[in-house]
Amino acid sequence: MNLTQLLHRNVLLRPDQEAVCYQDTSLTYRELEKRVACLAGGLLNIGIKEGECLPLLSMNSSRYLEYLFAVPWAGAAYNLVNVRWSVAEIAYSLVDSGARFLVVDDTFASIVSEIKQKVPMLESVIYAGDGECPEGMLSYEKLLAEAEPIEDTYRSGDDLAGVFYTGGTTGSPKGVMLSHTNLMTFASSGALMSGLSAQPRWLNCAPLFHIAGLGMLLMSFLLGGSQIIVPAFIPADVIKTIREQSVTDMLLVPTMVQMLLDFPDFDVDDFASLQHIIYGASPMPQGTMNKALEQLPDVGFIQGYGMTECGLISISPASNHTPAANESGRIRSAGIPGPVQQVRIVDEQNVPVPPGTIGEITLRGPNIMLGYWGKPELTQKTVVDGWLHTGDGGYIDEQGYIFVVDRVKDMIISGGENIYSSEVETVVSQHPSVAQCAVIGIPSDEWGETVHVVIVAQANEENLDTLTIEHLRDFCKEHIAGYKCPRSLTLIDALPISGAGKILKNELRKPYWQGREAQVS
Ligand code: ATP
Ligand code: MG
Repeated sequence: MNLTQLLHRNVLLRPDQEAVCYQDTSLTYRELEKRVACLAGGLLNIGIKEGECLPLLSMNSSRYLEYLFAVPWAGAAYNLVNVRWSVAEIAYSLVDSGARFLVVDDTFASIVSEIKQKVPMLESVIYAGDGECPEGMLSYEKLLAEAEPIEDTYRSGDDLAGVFYTGGTTGSPKGVMLSHTNLMTFASSGALMSGLSAQPRWLNCAPLFHIAGLGMLLMSFLLGGSQIIVPAFIPADVIKTIREQSVTDMLLVPTMVQMLLDFPDFDVDDFASLQHIIYGASPMPQGTMNKALEQLPDVGFIQGYGMTECGLISISPASNHTPAANESGRIRSAGIPGPVQQVRIVDEQNVPVPPGTIGEITLRGPNIMLGYWGKPELTQKTVVDGWLHTGDGGYIDEQGYIFVVDRVKDMIISGGENIYSSEVETVVSQHPSVAQCAVIGIPSDEWGETVHVVIVAQANEENLDTLTIEHLRDFCKEHIAGYKCPRSLTLIDALPISGAGKILKNELRKPYWQGREAQVS
């Protein structure tokens, strides 16, 4: 249960196969191993200590992958910094994780002096960009070239692999301590359950700092695949890379799926090599799912459900994404739990509920985090008797399939009735004039809360007359009960999105709840 074992295994089985392809760089497994062993030596040379957190602030790259193996090889731990954060947020996570060193690429080299001002304990910054190493920073390539390869420290399964910050969707990001066993459980459960191609040509276009992007990289690595890496998700670049690199499998969050499907020059032939798209990290709107099945009929869709605190919770394979599964509703399931974990749905008193009943999703197993970094009370509240409380509402059907209905914090209580925002979004997203939507509860003296929908209209939508609240209510009433239908709507140009590509409902709720008792955190 050690991350570097993934590299050792591939070097043993397929030393001359391409391990990574990024821009002009292509490395075999053997070449990757050599660079990793030297970089690990370089890290020891600059004084990295056992178990110390070494933050990386970089877009996706081949050096990112080297770092992912070199850090545990040298006996240290990661802090993969969210690339969408402001300087203040970056500084917070560096101070929080006690960083003495920082690795940056070209994108972030220019803000290093600002970061340094806010993080006085920072001793050295390693420049892992492609240009000339800026003054005052250590050159990554020099560090690597001047070091002797070292032996792997072979971290044990219980050792800290890294501190991973949550998406910050519901509040401030929390540092989650994950062990090698936690991450290897993600990789091995995912490899077993997802039904990905054997030795996939895996495209890393989702951010690698996020647990989903990282976990899936480890999973495809375990399958002996080749890592195709692009710096970030830009639809035109992603499509070009799929075509030119014969990508077979990839991870996308639902907003990325939507962007690919809406790409102005969308051509199904560009996706000829693509066998699977794993999507997850937030619910997939039904409208997007329908379009995806229609526009990419030969791609197998796979849903992954998980969270930073435990990596992967469940997977729903491509066989649950057929037109028949769409008809039966099975397509909306997040799948069955991973093989080495137990999932239990509990009520507010923490008592398990029968199949089909909605409650909070809880789980236990070797994938549960070591705890929140520096937050023992929060850890105690979140992991109770070994059971992780996800904060997600959902149910399990008679066949053992998990359905995530909503975050507990996003649930709307209107006139005493529970309304799941995702259920309403599923319906609204199928309206032909709607490109994206988010449903929130807004304060109401009469009902406590009422259902409000924020909509991004389809581009070039001429018939905006249909996007009146009256019309939308009529549309929704055909699918869901009247009390669940939106009572008000606003049109917006773009929804606020987190670094991990999730809709920030807190931002949408804020103007309505300001000055009121905090009903939502
Ligand atoms: P924070 O905890 O800081 O508010 P976050 O919960 O978004 O942020 P992550 O750990 O990145 O941080 O996300 C995990 C959450 O994402 C889950 O708890 C769940 O609400 C949501 N999620 C992940 N996968 C799915 C999925 N397949 N379907 C629905 N929701 C999902
Ligand atoms: Mg969370």
